[in-house]
Amino acid sequence: MKLHVKAPAKINLSLDVLHKRPDGYHEVEMVMTTIDLADRIELKELRQDEIRIDSHNRFVPDDHRNLAFQAAKLLKETYHIKKGVSISIDKAIPVAAGLAGGSSDAAAVLKGLNQMWQLGLSLEELADLGSQIGSDVSFCVFGGTALATGRGEKITPLPTPPNCWVVLAKPQIGVSTAEVYRNLKLEEVRHPNTKAMIEAIVEQNYEKMCQNVGNVLESVTLKMHKEVAQIKEQMIRSGADAVLMSGSGPTVFALVQHDSRMNRIYNGLRGFCGQVFAVRMLGGPPTIV
Ligand code: ATP
Repeated sequence: MKLHVKAPAKINLSLDVLHKRPDGYHEVEMVMTTIDLADRIELKELRQDEIRIDSHNRFVPDDHRNLAFQAAKLLKETYHIKKGVSISIDKAIPVAAGLAGGSSDAAAVLKGLNQMWQLGLSLEELADLGSQIGSDVSFCVFGGTALATGRGEKITPLPTPPNCWVVLAKPQIGVSTAEVYRNLKLEEVRHPNTKAMIEAIVEQNYEKMCQNVGNVLESVTLKMHKEVAQIKEQMIRSGADAVLMSGSGPTVFALVQHDSRMNRIYNGLRGFCGQVFAVRMLGGPPTIV
């Protein structure tokens, strides 16, 4: 048996860090949405009781460090499955980019194997399991648009945001999420208005959504990598309605409604930046294809 699952990237329309918790994690408030930029995962049943993985990408580990491998292992161990699977990942999402590529791969494997092994688990149960792998995995299990709180694992679904283009650009640098959090000085940051962002989405108010994008991690990454600030400036000069870094970066995205401006931003960045994409936000959760 063979199964294909799509693993879409996410962007943060807002990302706030409230405080550091006694367990070492940060308490966050994030509005996230999936976008039409996805890895494709093939799951193939194996006769042998083992997990094989191949990501065809030199920046992604092909062993137990791969989050997709960890997802399969967790499901096998938790439900005592004595079957094997071969996981092949066709990566389209830039790696270590702030787009939750690894988390989305893990979520896709959880959903795909739930179907392949006929476990009958609900999305809530899969999200709960996924939170053991990484804070963003729970959101990726549900997909669509949501408010994520706690350490990112408590998910409240939201409606689809107002329709627009998302132009993404990733400079040729990798950013360590742990390092960004280590350098975050909460007393110095400007917190985004999460409530206003949620209202904008519920009211389908595009201007209000653009006014309320915000990410407290941006100031840290901007100080570490001047390329991020340069991309932001170029997007604004080309007519973006809003510009923000996603997650801990370094990917920056622009929101824009007019096709002509989307083209201007996209073409302006292509010569300047390695990976550039113009995509739509996804309305609903990802499907098994
Ligand atoms: P987030 O937005 O959740 O912080 P990210 O987009 O910054 O995530 P990822 O692309 O998920 O980062 O990769 C971070 C690291 O995780 C990579 O450097 C890579 O070594 C490792 N990794 C493990 N599994 C995967 C996977 N399936 N895809 C990509 N990276 C993976």
